[in-house]
Amino acid sequence: MEPEYVRLVKETEICKNCKNIVIGKGNENADVLFVGEAPGKNEDEQGLPFVGKAGKNLDNLLQKVGLSLNDIYVTNILKCRPPENRNPSPEEIKAHTPWLIEQIKKIKPKVVCSLGNYATKFFLSEGDVEKMEKQPGITSVHGKVRFVEINGMKIKLIPLFHPAAIIYNKNLLSWWKEDMEIVKKEILESLAQKKLF
Ligand code: URA
Repeated sequence: MEPEYVRLVKETEICKNCKNIVIGKGNENADVLFVGEAPGKNEDEQGLPFVGKAGKNLDNLLQKVGLSLNDIYVTNILKCRPPENRNPSPEEIKAHTPWLIEQIKKIKPKVVCSLGNYATKFFLSEGDVEKMEKQPGITSVHGKVRFVEINGMKIKLIPLFHPAAIIYNKNLLSWWKEDMEIVKKEILESLAQKKLF
C-alpha cells in the first residue's frame, strides 16, 4: 500500500499535470540536507531536483566551498512542478511537506539548509503553513543558525540564498561563501559532539 505522504502528493492538481514526481538526489546518509522550493521544467522532465540553470549554479557554488553531491542530499518543498513555475500555494505546501518530513526522519541530517524564501519560511514557521507569511525574508535571516521543531524533530536550520537568486545578483555570492563556512563549522561541531557522548 502507498504511504499516506505519497497519496497526499498524488491527490494535488499539480501532480496530475506534471511529468515526474521529483523526490531528491544526493547522499541519503549526508549530514546536510538542502531544501529548495519546487521542481522547474528541467527537473520535471528528468525527475531530479536542481538539474536546470539553478542546479548548475548549485553545483558550482558547492564546488567553490569544497562540497559535492556526495556530501549533501537535495530536495524541495514541493515534489511536483507548479504550472509556469508559479509560487507554491498554501494547500500544495500542506499536501507535499509530509513527504519532506519523512525524508528528514530518514536522513537525520545534522543541518538543514533552506534555499530561498519558501523553504526558509516553512521551517521558521515550524511547519505551520498559516504562519509562513509572517516569517522574515531570506535577506534578514540567511546564514543565521536557528533551532526549529517540526513533528517533534529538533532541526538545526541555516537559511541560504537560493542558487537561482545568485545567478541574477552576483553580490549574493560573497554572502553564500560566508554562509557556507557557517554550515561547514556547524557540521564539524555536530560531529565532534556526537563523538563526546
Ligand atoms: N529550484 C528549486 O527550488 N528546486 C529545483 O529543483 C530547481 C530549481
